[in-house]
Amino acid sequence: MPSLDRFAADKLASLEAKQLRRRLVETERADGISVIRNGKRLLSFSCNDYLNLSQHPEVKDAAIAAISRYGAGAGASRLVTGNHPLYAELESRLAKLKGTEAACVFGSGYLANTGIIPALIGKEDLVLLDELSHACLWSGAQLSRAKILAFRHNDPAHAEALLKEHRPLHGNALIATDGVFSMDGDLAPLPALGELAKRYDAWLMSDDAHGLGVIGGGRGSVFAHGKKAEVPLQMGTLSKAVGGYGGYLCATIDTIELVKNRARSFVYSTGLPPASAAAAITALDIIARGGELIEAPLRKARAFTKAAGLPEAQSPIVPVVLGSAARALDTAKKLEREGFLAVAIRPPTVPEGTARLRLTFTASHPDTEIVRLAGLVRELVSA
Ligand SMILES: *Cc1c(COP(=O)(O)O)cnc(C)c1O
Repeated sequence: MPSLDRFAADKLASLEAKQLRRRLVETERADGISVIRNGKRLLSFSCNDYLNLSQHPEVKDAAIAAISRYGAGAGASRLVTGNHPLYAELESRLAKLKGTEAACVFGSGYLANTGIIPALIGKEDLVLLDELSHACLWSGAQLSRAKILAFRHNDPAHAEALLKEHRPLHGNALIATDGVFSMDGDLAPLPALGELAKRYDAWLMSDDAHGLGVIGGGRGSVFAHGKKAEVPLQMGTLSKAVGGYGGYLCATIDTIELVKNRARSFVYSTGLPPASAAAAITALDIIARGGELIEAPLRKARAFTKAAGLPEAQSPIVPVVLGSAARALDTAKKLEREGFLAVAIRPPTVPEGTARLRLTFTASHPDTEIVRLAGLVRELVSA
């Protein structure tokens, strides 16, 4: 066996032994909430399409119209010839919703984070990350080659202790955190972190992948705390509640111009396809209208946590922590037999010993099915 294949086979065998091997399962999404897997129709509690906008007729029509007019792909990086006219419109929609001067759209949320952080932060600088921050914030921080320190989850006092000790040793400093934590569904204390960042002359960056469209009246986690938190770098994705694909940063004009000049994942990567920009523009218009659609996912998550006897949901994401990977996989399998898709999330996506079901609630999940799922979860967790 060639050494490369031996290496791959050994690694896979070791993942398999720890119940950590992952496999792709073909999943056909027929509407906003149900999927077909292995020939079986399941009600999904694992999609991030919180407002079901990926399937919205107006959103789909906008994408089709953009393909007809501009073609299937952007053709080049935006700085070369890929900057088709829909981008400016999309960026002004995002800036308006987030209350900033300007915005920059990237190919994806992952590309945004790996581009933004190294564009602003370098070797002599400091990055503080909440320990449960999304993998791509860590990747961006690592690419910056700055000193990286993790503070305890949602603990501004620990972040302050680290700043006190390390801030004087560095040039610039960035504090980065999820606004809504992707695997736990809780909110970062953005007002407290904003105030802390100001006192230590650090720049606060929030990743609002799971906030836009579903909390803070649809405007995201910066707006979910009574008064608006001071967050000069608001990053997010168009792939969750917005229902499509792409990432973004909202900030001041100067910061956005610098990012458009320096972020390698922006400069050296092809622009988002026109259809994705058009879909996002229409989806953001729907989100900006607000109302019942925006409120529904959190309301449904809270109906679930109440019925299941779990702590009240703070976002449409509800973790059901089970411990071992084996137990999480087994519980997911039992729910699948009942017609529910609740994918097991295992390390390294979550810390060792906290494998879980990560349930997500969308605007169109039927209340009766939510109650039935809650009953099953209550039973399986106490078993
Ligand atoms: C999904 C996600 C991302 C990545 O966004 P993509 O557009 O899917 O690449 C970034 N941060 C968080 C917190 C996420 O949940």
